[in-house]
Amino acid sequence: MEKQELLYEGKAKKVYRTDDPQLYIIDYKDDATAFNGLKKGTIGGKGIINNQMSNRLMQMLEREGIPTHFVQELSERQALVRKVSIVPLEVIVRNIAAGSFSKRYGVVEGMALETPVVELSYKNDALGDPLLNDDHALALKLATRQELDIIRSMALKINALLQQFWAECGVTLVDFKLEFGKTDDGRIILADEISPDTCRLWDTATGKKLDKDRFRRDLGDVEAAYEEVMNRLVAHAQH
Ligand code: ADP
Ligand code: UDP
Repeated sequence: MEKQELLYEGKAKKVYRTDDPQLYIIDYKDDATAFNGLKKGTIGGKGIINNQMSNRLMQMLEREGIPTHFVQELSERQALVRKVSIVPLEVIVRNIAAGSFSKRYGVVEGMALETPVVELSYKNDALGDPLLNDDHALALKLATRQELDIIRSMALKINALLQQFWAECGVTLVDFKLEFGKTDDGRIILADEISPDTCRLWDTATGKKLDKDRFRRDLGDVEAAYEEVMNRLVAHAQH
């Protein structure tokens, strides 16, 4: 599969067209941003880890019946994916209070939540990805009722699968962000990435943060944390 023209360069990835109109190539960069692009840096080797981790997790989800955009790993940093029209929602699932949830509701980071929380925000950088509910999403025609219902049930199923998978690696899945897309025939599938950039992952034994919060909060050992959590996943696969 040959890379054709660059379609889009985002903060963490580049998206290329291919000679098949239904397939795109995603190229993962080491660039990292936080706080809506205000903080910029690089995390050495991150692109390789995020590509390989996302591909492996999506393959696991596919085996468990979740349709995803993943087609094939092409190289260390590149994956072949099904082209979708992205639903402009960031779908966040939370198991433990952290980040903006802790701030907004005044609860300590680390507090277990009684039930998983599915949160939606409008994927719009200019507006700072504002939080919204189903009514807002419907009123703004970001998705249909049926699509919102499918997205919610897929997000909760993905949460249960990822939570169990990471638990088996000795890692606690605190929260994460998903993006869904629509195929040309109108099906909703999981798209974008699942990586330490988009998940909060804590070492279950020590509580050590093994994700992008190390970059956001200047905690140090950022590269080592990404490598650690990738090693856990690889070790799990060998069992
Ligand atoms: P951002 O746009 O937030 O800076 P990235 O740097 O990760 O994010 O860029 C990747 C872009 O590709 C995102 O806008 C994402 O929604 C989009 N994308 C992810 N998967 C697909 C796909 N299968 N088809 C089309 N677009 C996709
Ligand atoms: N997240 C993400 N992209 C975003 C916003 C959030 O991947 O643009 C992920 C983030 O890594 C975390 C979860 O979504 O795993 C919840 O993030 P939160 O709302 O707490 O935001 P933050 O504290 O990062 O502002």
